[in-house]
Amino acid sequence: MPKCPKCGEDIDSLKLVETKETEYDVSYDEEGEALDFNQTEEWHGNPTGSVIKEEYFCPLCKTVIFDNGDAAKTFLSGIREKVIKQLYEELGREPTESEIQTSLKSIDESMG
Ligand SMILES: [Zn+2]
Repeated sequence: MPKCPKCGEDIDSLKLVETKETEYDVSYDEEGEALDFNQTEEWHGNPTGSVIKEEYFCPLCKTVIFDNGDAAKTFLSGIREKVIKQLYEELGREPTESEIQTSLKSIDESMG
C-alpha cells in the first residue's frame, strides 16, 4: 500500500478537492425575483464550469500531495513500488522498506 510522503502512514485513497470557475448571467427584478441566473457557455475562453485546480490530499494528515490526476493514479496504483521491487528482484533480493522509501523519494525528486 502506498505511504503518504508527509506523515508516512499507509493510505489507500486520497481526498480530491476540485476548484471550478463558472460564470453566470444574473439579474433580478424590483421584487427580488430572479429574472436570470444562468450559467454562461464560455468564461475566459473555456467552457464554463471547467476545473481550474485539483488538489489531492492525504486523508490522514490533510497535506496536499498532488495537483493532478495522473500523479494521484500512479501513486494509488502502487505501480512505482512494483517497479522498484522488480528492479531489486533482478538483483536477486527483496528491497527493505527504507530502500523502497529512498527509491520513491529519488523518483519524486527526479520528476520535480
Ligand atoms: Zn499524510
